[in-house]
Amino acid sequence: MATESYHLALYPCSHICGHCEDAGRPVTPDNGLSVLYRVEENLDIEVFLHARCVESWCREFDVPVPAMASAVFETVRVARNSGRN
Ligand SMILES: [Zn+2]
Repeated sequence: MATESYHLALYPCSHICGHCEDAGRPVTPDNGLSVLYRVEENLDIEVFLHARCVESWCREFDVPVPAMASAVFETVRVARNSGRN
């Protein structure tokens, strides 16, 4: 059985917010962040969210609210490096 890990991103190019899905206001490091969460043992989903949308989204999907200080790309890197070895 392969132990390969899959990483999927919603709107990886357009960075549309996964909560409000406002195509006119893509998520940038200035107005939001990305959330990486594990849906299965080897499957991570990355979602871009506006800072004001994070809390609602996390409640909706029952995941911990990430640190707001992290910018979009910082969050992704930290999340990847914090995996258990
Ligand atoms: Zn939003």
